Amino acid sequence: MKEKVFLIKMKDNEDDNSVCTKLEKAVKEKDFFSFITPKDMVAIKTHFGEQSTKGYVRPLYFKMIGDIIKEKEGIPFLTETSTLYRGKRTNAVEHIEFAYEHGFTYDNTGLPIIMSDGLLGDDEIEVKIPGRLYDSVKIAPLIVKSQAIIMVSHFTGHMLTGFGAALKNMGMGCSSRRGKLIQHSTAKPSIVKKKCTACRECIKWCPANAISLVDDKADIDKQLCIGCGECLAVCRFDAVNYNWSETHINIQRKVVEHAMGVAETKKGKIIYMNFLNRITKDCDCMGQFEKILPDIGVLVSFDPVAVDAASLDLVEEKAGKQFPKMAYDVPSREQINYAGELGFGNPDYELIIF
Ligand code: SF4
Ligand code: SF4
Repeated sequence: MKEKVFLIKMKDNEDDNSVCTKLEKAVKEKDFFSFITPKDMVAIKTHFGEQSTKGYVRPLYFKMIGDIIKEKEGIPFLTETSTLYRGKRTNAVEHIEFAYEHGFTYDNTGLPIIMSDGLLGDDEIEVKIPGRLYDSVKIAPLIVKSQAIIMVSHFTGHMLTGFGAALKNMGMGCSSRRGKLIQHSTAKPSIVKKKCTACRECIKWCPANAISLVDDKADIDKQLCIGCGECLAVCRFDAVNYNWSETHINIQRKVVEHAMGVAETKKGKIIYMNFLNRITKDCDCMGQFEKILPDIGVLVSFDPVAVDAASLDLVEEKAGKQFPKMAYDVPSREQINYAGELGFGNPDYELIIF
């Protein structure tokens, strides 16, 4: 049976207030939040962006979502987890302060921010899953303990998984620091020595202190490397190389199994909203912004695989080419196919234009 995916269309560069009004109408008319019952603690999971990025879903949408949850007598809060890489989002305090800088204040959203994985990102709950790679995965506690989740994801390209949307927001974005490490551990880069200028930028940003200069060239200690991809992102000289063929399949499968852990704890109590606007080659963790496609709309579904499959199809239809030709050359459908194989979601969907 096909899963329903609803599309709330938007024009290119349409004003967020206008899109938000249309989304609110759809949520209310379809009663998308009917699974929320009084006193449910409802985690609204999103990504607050990064310095210099502009793609993240804007605070006004969360005000609207939070208000509807409150009408249903639920208790909503905004939540996120700490990042692996160095920066302003590696601990709860600085991450929340950064979210305020991007407008996610109580005044703007009516929602408190509570980090799901604790002060330092190391709080976790082991969740049992019927996976192929894992019997259990390490999920941020508040994701597990809340009664319902609104998963708000911004569709972007991603250097390791090809693209990131609902599955990535769940799998990577809702796991603890150790869960994130496990997912990244297959990706081990190497240095193309002749291209390395010894600028030390990768050394500065490597969160595992795995890089040093040897004979005036960067050198990666594979034992220490956690595969976070930060060196690839910061090297301006194309001197960091990944064995994509080894990494991209494995990391997507790991992301999917962690996403499965989140879904296992919330059967019938999660809804997924994918924003297909301000689409960029890189994810919202990267400090840059260059739109690669006109805006499409917001997709809503109760199935994370259907909503991601529909998102990727719509993006490719709009672009007139496959996503790897517009962003990173990664077979990004693996995450959808693998989730479908596991029976964790359904890639077969019916698109309903709202
Ligand atoms: S950032 Fe690139 S060029 Fe600079 S030291 Fe690292 S690998 Fe070499
Ligand atoms: S060497 Fe690169 S991929 Fe490995 S931990 Fe350091 S920054 Fe991350």
